[in-house]
Amino acid sequence: MDWGARNRLKLWLRSERALGLPSVVVPGGAIAAQQVTGSASHQVADECGVEDCGSATSPAPPPVAPVVLPPTDRRQRDEPDTGSALFAPAAEQPAFGAAVLSPDEKRNRLLALDNNEVRGCTKCRLCETRTQTVFGEGDADAKIFFIGEGPGENEDLSGRPFVGRAGEMLNKWIAAMGLKREQVFIANIVKCRPPGNRVPAPDEVATCTPYLQRQLEIVRPKVIVTLGLPSAKYMLQSNSTMGRLRGQWHEWRGVKLMPTFHPAYVLRSYTNEVRAAVWDDLKKVMAEVGLPPTKQRSPS
Ligand code: URA
Ligand code: SF4
Repeated sequence: MDWGARNRLKLWLRSERALGLPSVVVPGGAIAAQQVTGSASHQVADECGVEDCGSATSPAPPPVAPVVLPPTDRRQRDEPDTGSALFAPAAEQPAFGAAVLSPDEKRNRLLALDNNEVRGCTKCRLCETRTQTVFGEGDADAKIFFIGEGPGENEDLSGRPFVGRAGEMLNKWIAAMGLKREQVFIANIVKCRPPGNRVPAPDEVATCTPYLQRQLEIVRPKVIVTLGLPSAKYMLQSNSTMGRLRGQWHEWRGVKLMPTFHPAYVLRSYTNEVRAAVWDDLKKVMAEVGLPPTKQRSPS
């Protein structure tokens, strides 16, 4: 099966999941979903990139295509895209259906997801090289949800997202918006560090992102901010460039989404133009969530 067909199959499975199949709430408030199963489902995940897809009624798993890893050079990530078909074209995603949870319930469900599923996860090869998983952190009831790419070395060692130099830059942005870091939620598209900080491979993204989707379903932010091209491309299922995507509102399952540059890219390309672009994006987010405008010209 070619990549197009594989991606269509993945998207179909994902929308099945988005309709509620993986997030069954059992009496007592626990989350019964995507059990961290043994090697059988792991093998299926390796073959088709989507765990638990090999039930009796599902199509037979396609033959394994060679994994083509994306560029390892971080500099290529926010810069003009060559149009490689790493991600499927835009697909319709259903809006949230479930009721909004109380802040306490959100906290409990996030904790359960981390403790019962993510922490011990071995669904993709990234588990072999990680020190620890990086679930994400912040206010379970946050209005703004930042999504980065994947843990780097500092995050892998500490178990917390955005704690290195890129994290310091992100902290400045959050402060410039008039918020404390604890008032937003911060997570990544993959929860384990890709070796050498390479871009996560498409099958790793496909295997890990059900966790991110469930984090988003629980938190239900008002606005999602993607940091860098890989997370924008994944969330919008788009092959577009950062130049085209950033600065404009998009939508993910009924939630407003603003793509902006990755803080690490801003550190490397520390020009007035890039910094002003980020600030423009963040000011749009502030207006959307009702934060008062500031006179600052750039947050960093
Ligand atoms: N870069 C990311 O994308 N995420 C982190 O958590 C840290 C650096
Ligand atoms: Fe599991 Fe995600 Fe880590 Fe892969 S990256 S092992 S899917 S938590």
